[in-house]
Amino acid sequence: MADTTIPQEESAEKKGLNFVEQIVADDLAAGKNGGRLNTRFPPEPNGYLHIGHAKAICMDFGVAEKFGGTCNLRFDDTNPVKEDVEYVDSIREDIHWLGFDWGNREYYASDYFPQLFDLAVRLIKEGKAYVDDQTSEQIAEQKGTPTIPGQESPYRNRTPEENLDLFIRMNNGEFDEGARVLRAKIDMASPNMHFRDPIMYRIIKTPHHRTGTTWKVYPMYDFAHGQSDYFEGVTHSICTLEFVVHRPLYEHFVKELADETYCPRQIEFNRLNLTYTVMSKRKLLQLVKEGLVEGWDDPRMPTISGMRRRGFTPASIRNFIDKIGYTKYEALNSISLLEHAVREDLNSIATRGMAVINPVKVVITNYPAGQIETVEMDNNPENPEEGTHSMTFAREIYIERDDFMENPPKKYFRLFPGGEVRLKGAYIIKCEDVVKDADGNIKELHCTYDPESRSGLPGSQRKVKGTLHWVAADTAVDATVRMYDRLFAVENPAAEEGDFRDMLNPDSLIVIEGVKVEPFIAQNAQKDKKFQFQRIGYFTPDYSSTPDHLVFNRTIALKDSWEKEQKK
Ligand code: ATP
Ligand code: MG
Repeated sequence: MADTTIPQEESAEKKGLNFVEQIVADDLAAGKNGGRLNTRFPPEPNGYLHIGHAKAICMDFGVAEKFGGTCNLRFDDTNPVKEDVEYVDSIREDIHWLGFDWGNREYYASDYFPQLFDLAVRLIKEGKAYVDDQTSEQIAEQKGTPTIPGQESPYRNRTPEENLDLFIRMNNGEFDEGARVLRAKIDMASPNMHFRDPIMYRIIKTPHHRTGTTWKVYPMYDFAHGQSDYFEGVTHSICTLEFVVHRPLYEHFVKELADETYCPRQIEFNRLNLTYTVMSKRKLLQLVKEGLVEGWDDPRMPTISGMRRRGFTPASIRNFIDKIGYTKYEALNSISLLEHAVREDLNSIATRGMAVINPVKVVITNYPAGQIETVEMDNNPENPEEGTHSMTFAREIYIERDDFMENPPKKYFRLFPGGEVRLKGAYIIKCEDVVKDADGNIKELHCTYDPESRSGLPGSQRKVKGTLHWVAADTAVDATVRMYDRLFAVENPAAEEGDFRDMLNPDSLIVIEGVKVEPFIAQNAQKDKKFQFQRIGYFTPDYSSTPDHLVFNRTIALKDSWEKEQKK
């Protein structure tokens, strides 16, 4: 389960290059493709990008940056049934947010439909492709197995003239979807199943988001991808390991176009799989469509847009991807590593403030009513340049209900009757009395303070074991917090038997109203601002937050509570 380290790749790692970068460096050194380096990131616009795509983006754009090449953004829009402009827009936004730019090199596989069609026509004329009238089920039945050769289609030996006529009529819309396909005539006995006369074109009558109703035939991935790479001048086509078995076919088709001066090559690395997460776009779409989450950008989703809304930073995602690295072996990475990277970055950039999630009122009985004073708080102890802000101290304050116990166990360092704690940045208080309502619930705590214990005063050095966060009752602002946690309750939902939807973590979102935040937080709660609520965790305003109704998303708790769970 754990992250694996791969000894074979260590020698390249030592030079600071991963194995893909090493291949690129070698190709450049050998002067291949005239010394050019051009990669591409090829998303299919059929969903929002997720953290797995971020790994591919960091590779595709990263290697181009590192070696002075370029990286294209190419939308792999060959299936109009599933694709949509909403997805195109979100993909652009997410790549930019991660910190990468494709300049004016935005392309679409659909741009190449004319050239791909011409190539198909050429292959038909050369007797290398034929129209098959069988259903996809019949074709699948004849495929054979890796050890048993497939059977040839009864339509395999049509003349080029007949094939050409049929293919053109397919594209004119004369036949129904599924009625005919164009297949490459390669080898039904090949040990590589992908060579057993793969389908090149199928009939689709749904209009395309860019080409409208121009085309009625659409190329399959294997016929479109390599050639699109070629038409675009891509030199290194980097993808994930499931395409290893497609590589010979990639090379087969590309050879129809390429020569010794330029030929794109495919290189594969391991996809990102994360614990407590599903990464399949189909499943993510299902969660969205069935309302099991609040949308593609729900802060629990592994999408880039969800992580952005939750308060993750581009730096934390990139640091995480850097840390896990690229190998040739499938692995399952722990989500704790991602969460660690998020904490690490937020610790250095988040503005500190006080918020009380589950407040109980404290009345400081020896503090004069109506008196207030201000105390200075660091905005970020990690970065003194960010200065301080003032907080009001008064007779009535709120502390966390969980920071008080009426009958504490031994070594309880928070507040209890007769016990003392320091209020962070302010005075030491002592609990004198517990005030309850008729039902026995704690209504208020009555405390006294030590007027000498504030910083700068003689008693400031006096030590007590516990320090609590707090906010002044009069000036505190009400807020709602949305406490997010892992979306799934099981470590590897994809590997479990049963419906993945039954594995959702029922506590992945807990909404808490009536949270008290200090005014400084309320005043600075603009979009994408990162806060650390002292002793609680990292928070960011949700997109729905307004000055009149503050809503914060918990990005991540201060500590990994799951790790503890697992060690118990
Ligand atoms: P599908 O093709 O099933 O819709 P996909 O996840 O492959 O889903 P694409 O839009 O085709 O989605 O992916 C674009 C690029 O991102 C591809 O190069 C793919 O290899 C890469 N990619 C997708 N998922 C991951 C992942 N989990 N880890 C790393 N790279 C990924
Ligand atoms: Mg894909």
